[in-house]
Formats: sequence, C-alpha cells, structure tokens
Amino acid sequence: RRQQEEHTLKELVQAVDSFDPSTAELFAGLPLSLPTQRALRAASYTTPTTIQARTLQHTLRGRDVLGAARTGSGKTLAFLLPVLELLWRSKWGPQDGLGALIISPTRELAMQIFEVLRSVGQYHSFSAGLVIGGKNVRDEQERLTRMNILVATPGRLLQHMDQTAGFATDNLQILVLDEADRILDMGFSHTINAIIANLPKTRQTLLFSATQTQSVKDLARLSLKDPEFVSVREAG
Ligand code: ADP
Ligand code: MG
Repeated sequence: RRQQEEHTLKELVQAVDSFDPSTAELFAGLPLSLPTQRALRAASYTTPTTIQARTLQHTLRGRDVLGAARTGSGKTLAFLLPVLELLWRSKWGPQDGLGALIISPTRELAMQIFEVLRSVGQYHSFSAGLVIGGKNVRDEQERLTRMNILVATPGRLLQHMDQTAGFATDNLQILVLDEADRILDMGFSHTINAIIANLPKTRQTLLFSATQTQSVKDLARLSLKDPEFVSVREAG
C-alpha cells in the first residue's frame, strides 16, 4: 500500500509538471490528488469556474498569483485547492506544524472559508483551525500550536504571533491573502506587513481580490515573488 501511494504521488507530481490546461475542462481532468477529487465529487463540483481554471494552472505548479475576479466567481476553491495539493504532495503531517495560512478580512468570511475547507478537505488528514476575534484567546492558543492549516483574521493572528508561545510559523509553505482589497480598506495594511515579517521568505503566496486597486498592487509587490496576474472581467 505504501508503495502504491509512492507511485501515485510520483505520477501526480509528473502530471502537474506536464499538464496542458487547455484540456482541463473538468476537475476530473486536473492533476489533483484522490482525496481532493473525491471531495469535489461529493460536493458536486464538476467544472472549474474561469478564475479557478486560469489560476490553477499556475498555483498547482507553485507559482505566486494575484487573482482578481468579482464576488461570487469562486475564488475560495481557487486558493483552497492549491493549499491542499501542496501539503498533500509534501506529505504534510502532524509533526510538520503550520503549513498553510489563509488570511481573511472578517470573521464571517473566515468562517465561510473554513466551511468550504471542511468540505473540500474532508478526505485529507490535515488539522485545520479558525483564528478569529470574539472567541476565547486561551482556547485558541492551545489548539493553534497543533494546526496544519489556519484561517485567520489579521488582528487576532498578529496577537497570537506576539503572545502565543509555541506558535511557530517557520515551516509555512503557502500564504493566502483573500479579499485583499477589503483587508486594505479596513485599515489592516500595517497588521499584514507585520504578519508577513514573521513568515519565512521562501513560500508560495496567493493574493485574491475582487478589485485591483493601486493599494492591492502595492501589497502584491511587497508580498508576491514573480507573480502571474490573472484577471477575470466577464460577468459569468
Ligand atoms: P468568491 O470568493 O469569488 O466571492 P466563492 O468562492 O464564495 O466566490 O464562490 C461563490 C459560489 O460559487 C459558492 O456558492 C460556491 O459554492 C460556488 N462555486 C465555487 N466554485 C464552483 C464550481 N467550480 N462549480 C460550481 N459552483 C461553484
Ligand atoms: Mg471570497
């Protein structure tokens, strides 16, 4: 069984390297792990949306991406799929600590992301947690140090970085800034800069936004390395 897993992992890595995005009209045709494929089927997701298709070809290969598309275009899966796939391909386990950090401007949006993560990650074995204001800090502190994936709001996350012993971010592989325009509109620019200063420089970073303002572009320049810019303008 172990050998079989090694075999499928190798095949998947090769498939990611060689896949031709123009042929990927269905999730089933994308180089995604079996646990992800199974969860997508269980949730009846069959066809990637435009922003998903156009970013996955880069994000699955490890590239940094700035993705802009209107609200409702499917940005959540566009970043959750590369998060799950990166950790799965690196055989991320409990001992590896925090591998992925997803930052969202509000508690409500963070909770929505977490629900989608629970659904699409249901056949993976990663631990995942929410770090949002309005909950007991102590409760959060204890669970925090055991999580592989965190969905967080900026203020509370920085508070934990400053106060929570044992909360290590030095193994982080991928950072997602969701709704970057709103994060900046809400005045979190300094908080985000302080968070990023605590993170390893070698990582994949995905930045998603409904609009491409100058301040989003400035944040992209600070946080992304050699990014692909993907902007979807059509209504659908
Ligand atoms: P955004 O973050 O861009 O505002 P969401 O990620 O919240 O968009 O997705 C909007 C809606 O579209 C959600 O109800 C989600 O379940 C649905 N959705 C996302 N991707 C797909 C897909 N590939 N196929 C069908 N529905 C999808
Ligand atoms: Mg969204």
